Amino acid sequence: ELREAESLRRKLHNEVQELRGNIRVFARVRPTTQNDANNGAEALATIRFPNEREATQIEILAAGESATGTVTMKNHLFTFDRIFQPSATQADVFEEIAHLTQSVLDGYNTSIFAYGQTGSGKTHTLEGAPTSITSADPSSDDGAGLIPRAVQMLWSTAESLKDKGWKYDFEGQMLEIYLDNINDLLGKAEVDKGKHEIKHDKGRTTVSDTVVVPLETPAEVFKLLEKAKRRRQVAATLMNERSSRSHSVFMLRVRGTNATTMEACDAVLSLVDLAGSERLANSGSGADPVRLKEAQSINKSLSSLSDVISALGQNKGANHVPYRNSTLTWLLKNSLGGNSKTLMLLALSPMAAHLNESLCSLRFATKVNSTTIGTAKAVKTITA
Ligand code: ADP
Ligand code: MG
Repeated sequence: ELREAESLRRKLHNEVQELRGNIRVFARVRPTTQNDANNGAEALATIRFPNEREATQIEILAAGESATGTVTMKNHLFTFDRIFQPSATQADVFEEIAHLTQSVLDGYNTSIFAYGQTGSGKTHTLEGAPTSITSADPSSDDGAGLIPRAVQMLWSTAESLKDKGWKYDFEGQMLEIYLDNINDLLGKAEVDKGKHEIKHDKGRTTVSDTVVVPLETPAEVFKLLEKAKRRRQVAATLMNERSSRSHSVFMLRVRGTNATTMEACDAVLSLVDLAGSERLANSGSGADPVRLKEAQSINKSLSSLSDVISALGQNKGANHVPYRNSTLTWLLKNSLGGNSKTLMLLALSPMAAHLNESLCSLRFATKVNSTTIGTAKAVKTITA
């Protein structure tokens, strides 16, 4: 009976997921910060959220120059699965994402990508306010981001599933991708200079010569994240704010076995803080060859990510999905294709000076979203 109920739950879950497609796009506009105010920066006066209740649209009025040189105002309207206004709290955002992260306990590879220019709120959304990640109890810390909240929830859900015979094992890995190379943020060296090779075997991904940490409690996860964060800061001081020009990837592998039903599952939750998406001209880099190489590498990996998601959305055969075009997509191959769920979380700055980058980000996300939007709508009518 138990087995039947469990398999029915899974079947329903699968059906709903199939209807909705496996890719979601959310966008979050951060509030104006004290730092913005100190710099005398101006907020965008022309940003609107047309359908408040559905919370799926964002509209920006911007001046555009025509070919003949006349300046006209143009309305840019974007629709995603969910838009968070600057007033949205970390809890509001997590509420919409909790269900997706839970599915790793059901055996779905799940990945969340935070995309946006430097300063748009990616790290704040994933990790939390600067002091939050060390927090032992994110439920009592309003600033805690998605990662600590997800970790807390996964552990408590796993605990409650014990009654149904489930036993879960967790292990974590923390990697950084810089100039298309993988660095281990948990390895022996303070600054990893090792060569790491990505291997895919029967749906499992391993990276050679990197540390995978068994995790018993949420507190152990937070310790691991702290260590990785410190490492990134060391690298950042050595290399002038490198963290915004590398991708950081937290992978939590979740293995479950059920002694009652004899079921088993094995999946990875990947939480990815992508490198800043800003174009080179805006990064103040001038002709610095290192910055140029960084920008090219970031550009290549972000467009590969979009290409892979598009190819998957068009149901192209596995051989036609260009995973190999970047280290990022190759590493996350098993978290993007097949039986996996993906969320693109677009971070946006509300500042007028960032308008052009914001529009670029919104267009990038639209491209990612375009292949799934039709199916995403179908569900709303079913669940309503
Ligand atoms: P990114 O990781 O995209 O470069 P950050 O997450 O570091 O950007 O955010 C830039 C600044 O804005 C940080 O000072 C951060 O604390 C602040 N910030 C971002 N999002 C929010 C938010 N939702 N509420 C309050 N402050 C935020
Ligand atoms: Mg950041």
